[in-house]
Amino acid sequence: MASRETECEAILEAVDRIAARIESEKKYLTDLDSAIGDADHGANLDRGFKAVVETLDQQEDADAQDLVKTVGTTLISEVGGASGPLYGGSCMHASQELEAGITAETTVAFAEAYLEKLQDRGGAKVGDKTMVDALTPAVHTYKKSIEVDDLPPLEALSKAVDAAERGVEYTVPLKAVKGRASYLGWRSVGHQDPGATSTLLILEELLATAEEYLDGDVDLDATSPTIPDEDPEEVEE
Ligand code: ADP
Ligand code: MG
Repeated sequence: MASRETECEAILEAVDRIAARIESEKKYLTDLDSAIGDADHGANLDRGFKAVVETLDQQEDADAQDLVKTVGTTLISEVGGASGPLYGGSCMHASQELEAGITAETTVAFAEAYLEKLQDRGGAKVGDKTMVDALTPAVHTYKKSIEVDDLPPLEALSKAVDAAERGVEYTVPLKAVKGRASYLGWRSVGHQDPGATSTLLILEELLATAEEYLDGDVDLDATSPTIPDEDPEEVEE
């Protein structure tokens, strides 16, 4: 496990990255939401993540769990709409899985708790055309990559992002049955879900942060594979 300082630094970096990405994609998210919702998803998340950056900058003597919990409470109070309580509530609930810090195991537990809370709160299943469609394959892929395929966390996260990307594409032909988009019924078909899209953007920024912090020098723990010794004779072509 990395030191408490490094973990906190990584979380602040992730939050800064997410806030900047959401700001730059604000119009894109709002355009998606104007097609099947009320055109506020970009603005909602932009306001929320800006508040998160400000709040975390002021939080002293915190560990990973405290910081992530604050991300959740801030999103709940600042974002509003359907996505605020979903993003914020899940983050807040899942933060307790980080009590022992950030490792392959705790991040799998975090991801599972996050998804479970989101489905519990929103009642959406895969195929309902919501953020669940991006999140579910991402969480399942991350868990399987770590626990079954024994991949290092960075690779597992990269596969999870790919899975989320396919999940976002999968929302396009679906008819919405949850949230505001469901009011449109069949007219929601052919549009990409804004919440699934913002979930992907956030995961991409988590991956970029992990790349920076793990940098090939993966924080090996019990579930990570050992790297085989390279035989120079075999590598030479
Ligand atoms: P609102 O719909 O209240 O305006 P936002 O525009 O911020 O809120 O967020 C819309 C997104 O929230 C949708 O694109 C969808 O992904 C997600 N969403 C809405 N309802 C649900 C639900 N019940 N479960 C999961 N996600 C949902
Ligand atoms: Mg909206």
